[in-house]
Amino acid sequence: MEKLVSLCKRRGFVFQSSEIYGGFNGVWDHGPLGAELRNNIKKAWWEDYVYKRTDIVGLDSGILASPAVWKASGHLENFTDPLVECKNCHNRFRADQVDLQKNCPTCGKKDWTDVKQFNTMFKTFVGPVEEDASVAYLRPETCQAIFVNFRLVQGAMRKKLPFGIAQVGKAFRNEITTGNFIFRLRELEQMELEYFVRPDQAEAAFEELLGTSIDWLVAHGVRRSMLDLYEHPDTARAHYSSRTVDIMYEFPFGKSELQGVANRGNYDLTQHAKASGRELDYFDDETGEKLVPHVIEPSIGVDRSSLVFLLEAYDEEADKDGIRTVLRFHPRLAPVKVAVLPLVKKDPGLVALAQEIYADLRGEMLVLYDESGAVGRRYRRQDEIGTPYCVTVDGQSLEDRTVTLRDRDSMAQVRVPVDGLEAEIRRRLRAPWTRPEPAAGVSTA
Ligand code: ATP
Repeated sequence: MEKLVSLCKRRGFVFQSSEIYGGFNGVWDHGPLGAELRNNIKKAWWEDYVYKRTDIVGLDSGILASPAVWKASGHLENFTDPLVECKNCHNRFRADQVDLQKNCPTCGKKDWTDVKQFNTMFKTFVGPVEEDASVAYLRPETCQAIFVNFRLVQGAMRKKLPFGIAQVGKAFRNEITTGNFIFRLRELEQMELEYFVRPDQAEAAFEELLGTSIDWLVAHGVRRSMLDLYEHPDTARAHYSSRTVDIMYEFPFGKSELQGVANRGNYDLTQHAKASGRELDYFDDETGEKLVPHVIEPSIGVDRSSLVFLLEAYDEEADKDGIRTVLRFHPRLAPVKVAVLPLVKKDPGLVALAQEIYADLRGEMLVLYDESGAVGRRYRRQDEIGTPYCVTVDGQSLEDRTVTLRDRDSMAQVRVPVDGLEAEIRRRLRAPWTRPEPAAGVSTA
């Protein structure tokens, strides 16, 4: 984890928020490559759920909403974590994350306050007057707007049950404790799907979406052996849920939730219908039937999944120059898709051709150009940020307009014609990818 955090800073993936002012807890900034990785994760998720499937549509709602939403959904009352404070050192903890029979992990004394419920929604004021009537909340999850807009979306898109509404966006939680790098944040981003079904289809849809969620992670490079399932007991579920299964990942700091899949029943639609006085049910115009659908929700963090993709990608292997660090990202997620490298920077012919190729490839994917240092070192620099392909322009390129295409995973180099290079790279980027097994003597983080 330490190596990964340092690589993320050095190579422009993740920076501590407000670092020059000493940092700001629970928020991280994403550098050029981190922004790209996150965009690619969101894009892959959106393409797979919204574009490839015919039963799911998208939504992009506001971060702010009427406080009535949070009252009806139960968040004002129930979106709480149990808070306990050490009376000696005044450090605060989530009571379900410390052993209150034991001493304070910070100061070693045992003098706990009573456990209080702490609401983790961020409050703000809307408009120029800071008074009770203008209080609003930053959404702590993206899904409530999906329920509130259920009828509008269903009507506009003429969707029939079962169908889903997907949303990707920022959410805010005033977590009592943050930490483990980008695992637990106060400003986070979620990819959420609310899948509406007839009540008798809920259990089958739950199993299907749980399976789809696991398959999606595995297809993008997460080892199945690193995942586990945790079924929440009846006593420990969120207030809206009738069944929750967490997809757990074996993080370096312990097994923890990566994604939640919940059966929210008809709780949210019913609550909003009651509170707003507006109907939020589904009308089947073929059968004349009216019903309140049940909903299955797979919800995963962009930040938490990017941590997992980084951990899974991180690989080190011994080579003749020392240690080769490689991020073996799925090509779809890799921030930089191609690097263009002229073999020698002093040869104007090589540089001109390399620049021509660089200009042709740029536009629909992130391409880097690097002419400094020995080519072996330049390959290592690209390996370290997970670039799947390097294009090297050498003397032969000027004679026959072919270049070397180097593959990050196999390190195989093949000559390909400059004309058709873009098509060849696109073909390779789209081809099925399997996570390469680490070779003997390789340590995987
Ligand atoms: P926890 O019990 O760990 O606080 P939760 O059960 O409240 O989490 P959910 O409400 O199920 O989390 O959120 C769905 C997903 O959103 C999580 O699986 C996780 O990927 C992401 N997520 C939730 N809270 C955070 C956070 N504070 N920082 C980063 N990601 C988060």
